[in-house]
Amino acid sequence: MEIIEKTYAWAYPLTTRRMTDGIVLHHAAASAAAPEQIHAFHLAQGWNGIGYHYYVRKDGTVYRGRPEAASGAHTENENWHTIGICFEGNFMTEIMSEVQLKAGRALIADIKTRYPGIDVKGHRDFNATGCPGTNFPFERMVEEDMTGEEIYTKLNEYLRELPCPDWARAELQEAINAGITDGTRPCELIPRYQAAIMAKRAKQG
Ligand SMILES: [Zn+2]
Repeated sequence: MEIIEKTYAWAYPLTTRRMTDGIVLHHAAASAAAPEQIHAFHLAQGWNGIGYHYYVRKDGTVYRGRPEAASGAHTENENWHTIGICFEGNFMTEIMSEVQLKAGRALIADIKTRYPGIDVKGHRDFNATGCPGTNFPFERMVEEDMTGEEIYTKLNEYLRELPCPDWARAELQEAINAGITDGTRPCELIPRYQAAIMAKRAKQG
């Protein structure tokens, strides 16, 4: 995971977060803003500087905010146990690009390698706010990639329902007649051992 490092001038020393069991997702609520602008904006609020740990831009680049182990300033009452990720854009009105979504998913997966089982929530789950926006693709952002086994099962479930294409029907019937295959589920995947068994049957026939 490539994180673009930034050197920020903090208003006062950072402190280490007590524990880590959550990630909170935010939006910048501004259409375009560089991480330096977020830092300056948070300093102007009287905070220590950029309050998020990560900042995901619309082009899919991911910037460091506060060091991951430092306490953030992004979610009132919850900063002592959470990592804050902010997404560039205003998702009250904008739709997130696929490249930004993909970067966010990769970042969350990367954090999960250090904090297995960490909970992911939106800012609005904790505080009275619309953040990260009504259009924020929360479900897609947090759903985990399917395992190989899940993909295989799902693909087979789909293929099993497909009929034999017309052009292959005569040949399939010949193979059934020759005892090579029973002809059921003609579009399902075939592992090599089954192909080998069928080839053997064909040779014997
Ligand atoms: Zn927020």
